[in-house]
Amino acid sequence: MVSVKNKFKIIVCGGGLGGLGCAIGLALNGHHVIVLEAASEINEVGAGIQIPPNCVKVLNEYGVAEKLKKYVTKPANINLRRYSTGEILNATKLDPHMTETYGFPYWLIHRADYQRVLWDYALSIGVAIKTCSRIDSVDDATHTVKLVDGTTYTGDLIVGADGIRSKVRDSAVVDEEVVLPTPSSNCAYRATVPAEEMLADPVIAHLMTDINSNCWIGYRRHVMAYPIRNGKMYNIVMSHPGQAAVGKWAEPGDIEEMKNHYKNFDPVVVQLLTHVKTVLKWVLADLPTLPRWVSKSGQTVLIGDAAHAMLPYLAQGAAQAIEDGACISSLLSQCETEKDIPDAMRKYEKRRKLRCEKIQRGARDNGYIWHMPDGEEQEQRDSDMKLQPADKKNPNQWSDPLFQKWMFGWDAFRD
Ligand SMILES: Cc1cc2nc3c(=O)[nH]c(=O)nc-3n(C[C@H](O)[C@H](O)[C@H](O)COP(=O)(O)OP(=O)(O)OC[C@H]3O[C@@H](n4cnc5c(N)ncnc54)[C@H](O)[C@@H]3O)c2cc1C
Repeated sequence: MVSVKNKFKIIVCGGGLGGLGCAIGLALNGHHVIVLEAASEINEVGAGIQIPPNCVKVLNEYGVAEKLKKYVTKPANINLRRYSTGEILNATKLDPHMTETYGFPYWLIHRADYQRVLWDYALSIGVAIKTCSRIDSVDDATHTVKLVDGTTYTGDLIVGADGIRSKVRDSAVVDEEVVLPTPSSNCAYRATVPAEEMLADPVIAHLMTDINSNCWIGYRRHVMAYPIRNGKMYNIVMSHPGQAAVGKWAEPGDIEEMKNHYKNFDPVVVQLLTHVKTVLKWVLADLPTLPRWVSKSGQTVLIGDAAHAMLPYLAQGAAQAIEDGACISSLLSQCETEKDIPDAMRKYEKRRKLRCEKIQRGARDNGYIWHMPDGEEQEQRDSDMKLQPADKKNPNQWSDPLFQKWMFGWDAFRD
């Protein structure tokens, strides 16, 4: 369709963090980018998200990290704690260690702030974002996206960034079956508490002033919590055994049931949960390994949760989606004409698939490592976490020297 170097027309399906990140990378390289988003406006839930250094690196190269800075919090450590006492089993050093070691910091942010900054930045560099545009299917042979209202869009490349229940995937990439997400045995409650309320309670005030990501790990449950909105709010994610509908992000949870799950936890957690007025709940799910991420034509491609939805236990899902976009934009900038796109996209799949699937497995492994019942294996885990020298293998994957370097030190544009 286009023969001028670099000026391809690209349709990005889905305006979540992955889709917006990819659209920004492509637009900065001079492509004509349209994002099709089903929602009528930014629809991120009121919860936090961690942005690891491998992702900050991409955001920095896009020129958007500077704009995010005023919304982020920089934690000193991720502390893995014993659920019942709060004892620190292992601390992964974050600030300033991550910047010193990998060149970029580890950030905490409110999802809505993150998405708004990317959204506004995308618009400012010429991305066309079309809301209320629900995708029905993609015709891979003609690279045409069809919306449920019948509107069609044709491009040189279609990027499926439409999440775990991707229509792009099911209609054009893995078209031999509808890929069902694999629900885990756990759901997550999500809640936030305002800073003033935290600071007024002497039992929990330190969580706002001594800034860390804290994760209390116990049998089938954990609580991950950290300050967001530049210290104006405290974010809590509570993983527990339960059921909810996959893909439904905002089912209200029952407060008493929630507190009951954590009644044997550290008194700091129990006190923290007395401040929670409402919770959202959803099932934690991931995707099976897909046979491919690129369609037969080579001009429809999957990124983010559409390709490799993972459990949130390594806090890397959105980071990997952003890395996917960086890889696509860097490979596409080497294409002279539309005919070069399929090869570039096959290279993309080759570069990204093993990495994302390894992180997907690592997240599943954390479910096992964190959720052990008390007993011999848990005692061994705790002593390995505590006693292992910094340069030796550690059951806390964030602190494991090899895994950490591979995960956080990655350069998505070049590796
Ligand atoms: C509890 C929890 C905690 C997490 N914590 C972290 C973390 O700390 N760090 C991290 O990096 N990741 C984290 N993740 C993972 C992260 O949230 C996801 O991996 C990431 O949001 C995926 O982005 P995406 O853009 O690929 O998909 P999504 O966020 O699902 O976005 C898909 C977009 O496509 C739109 N869409 C869907 N269907 C259609 C359609 N038919 N037509 C048009 N538009 C459509 C949706 O409205 C949405 O805007 C966490 C996840 C959970 C559940």
